[in-house]
Amino acid sequence: MTEIERHSFDVVVIGAGGAGLRAVIEARQRGFRVAVVSKSLFGKAHTVMAEGGCAASMGNANPNDNWQVHFRDTMRGGKFLNNWRMAELHAKEAPDRVWELETYGALFDRTKDGKISQRNFGGHTYPRLAHVGDRTGLELIRTMQQKIVSLQQEDFAETGDYEAKVKVFAECTVTELLTNDGKISGAVAYWRENGKFVLFETPAVVLATGGIGKSFKVTSNSWEYTGDGHALAMRAGATLINMEFVQFHPTGMVWPPSVKGILVTEGVRGDGGVLKNSDDKRFMFEYIPDVFKGQYAESTDEADRWYDDADNNRRTPDLLPRDEVARAINSEVKAGRGSPHGGVFLDIASRLPAEEIKRRLPSMYHQFKELADVDITKEPMEVGPTCHYVMGGIEVDPDSGAATVPGLFAAGECSGGMHGSNRLGGNSLSDLLVFGRRAGLGAATYVEELGERPAVAESDVDAAVARALAPFDGPADGENPYDVHAELQQSMNDLVGIIRKAEEIEQALARLEELKKRAQQIVVKGDRKFNPGWHLAMDLRNMLLVSECVARAALLRTESRGGHTRDDFPGMDAEWRNKLLVCSVQGDAVDVSPKEQVPMRQDLLELFELGELEKYYTDGELAAHPQRKA
Ligand code: FAD
Repeated sequence: MTEIERHSFDVVVIGAGGAGLRAVIEARQRGFRVAVVSKSLFGKAHTVMAEGGCAASMGNANPNDNWQVHFRDTMRGGKFLNNWRMAELHAKEAPDRVWELETYGALFDRTKDGKISQRNFGGHTYPRLAHVGDRTGLELIRTMQQKIVSLQQEDFAETGDYEAKVKVFAECTVTELLTNDGKISGAVAYWRENGKFVLFETPAVVLATGGIGKSFKVTSNSWEYTGDGHALAMRAGATLINMEFVQFHPTGMVWPPSVKGILVTEGVRGDGGVLKNSDDKRFMFEYIPDVFKGQYAESTDEADRWYDDADNNRRTPDLLPRDEVARAINSEVKAGRGSPHGGVFLDIASRLPAEEIKRRLPSMYHQFKELADVDITKEPMEVGPTCHYVMGGIEVDPDSGAATVPGLFAAGECSGGMHGSNRLGGNSLSDLLVFGRRAGLGAATYVEELGERPAVAESDVDAAVARALAPFDGPADGENPYDVHAELQQSMNDLVGIIRKAEEIEQALARLEELKKRAQQIVVKGDRKFNPGWHLAMDLRNMLLVSECVARAALLRTESRGGHTRDDFPGMDAEWRNKLLVCSVQGDAVDVSPKEQVPMRQDLLELFELGELEKYYTDGELAAHPQRKA
């Protein structure tokens, strides 16, 4: 039997970003003992990096905004492949979740009359993103941590122990979920600092581990985004959906090479910045796709008027959904009209006074000054697509966040469905508040109703620990994890990146097979005390599994939609609209199978004009539509 630090909790939340923290608050408020486990330092998660804001139809900047408009925008952004129930809950509940943050102590930027200010973002009909300059995620995390501390103070007053109900395990990485008779029974983790193992006995786990970006070479994501939650869920028997949909944000830094991929917030375009090619031309007007024709300005004059008079002008195509803008940039670069370092230009300098740029976009100003020696108040930025977000994730029940394994819940970027084939900017921060709360509640309700708690099998703990330690016993001339990782990133970038085709995806799958074999031969040096090579060796197992899901699903979906563009199938195909590709794993074998979505509720369908639905749906699906019948 492995000697191991043991803890017992009602609910274990894995991940301390926005989704995880909101789940912790909810489960604790329902009276349960909760652990929050985080691979990174407490307070350092992707949520902290979120710049632009949190989408919620509060109607502060334009009173015409409401949940129905937000719902419609979200479904359009996802090209109608979204889980419509999630999109509905999200649109309805996001304003309450933002208000609630202010009751926890958040302070969003204000309009002149004291309301929460809201900014424009791609794909949103009205200014909708509640924000704090361009440091919104920091405020979200700061506030939720503060709320957790206040709950711990209440617990101290009652029990004399700050950690009686909520305990934080920071720099602690979960490597395995444990099940008993198909139900969650616990999780095994290790302390990053000393490499010692920890067992959490728990009937309920909420996964809130974020995305998968570190499988791609050019990415805005940081080291933690290795698809751990996706892989943990799969290995515990849960399913993933929509893994072919990976968002390439149109504006990442392209120069210097050391910072390639770092995000340039969409807030730059929301606040007036425009994209230009090497001919100094605003090229986005050439790239308005048919499904959005009529919804976007067709001249620069109209686009510029829209910033001040949104009711009488159409929005600039610089703010089309991200998938469209990323593809447009890609085409301009390919056509030889790119910037010197392989991107295009993003110009805010000629659009706003310098002081205003510094006030609205302080982080962007510093980012370019410090990292690229570019003064964005004087010269344009060079930008290009960067892997940013994964729409695919753990298949969950929309209302409770329950995955297909009893006792397992998921929220935030690691869950799938909400954003369909493409996420709108700002819809992640609202997603993780809405569904973080719902997953915390779902887990609490599950524990409440559960009879006997599933016991942890000691043999499973031993096996999990042995698997984690295996890289120390690799062959003397074994593989270096950094080499395998670099090759994985290059392959995913080149062969399953922003533009895909069958033969390249097949090549990627062949390379993944090779890399999987090589990963079994990995050897790490040193001991278990803070050993990044060992950590990467464990993360690689997850990245390889998740990358295979992305590639297999990308090969099967023979159409282009949102964050999945097939050069060999360039059009959107209505027959694919309601099909989800569901990934599961048995042993080492990944299976990807199509499954039909639940048809959208009639009252929600009727929020759209028939003419718009006809762009996405098959005739058969629309036969019962009232406007058709009439
Ligand atoms: P995260 O906030 O990433 O948290 C994941 C947590 O899981 C971390 O604590 C991590 O340490 C932990 N973890 C991972 N694996 C393990 C493991 N094995 N064991 C233990 N812990 C683990 N979205 C918007 O809506 N608006 C924006 O303006 C915006 N700007 C962005 C800017 C940048 C630069 C980036 C990268 C993203 C941005 N996004 C934005 C997207 C958004 O920030 C993320 O999608 C969102 O924060 C994800 O939140 P999360 O709670 O799901 O995961």
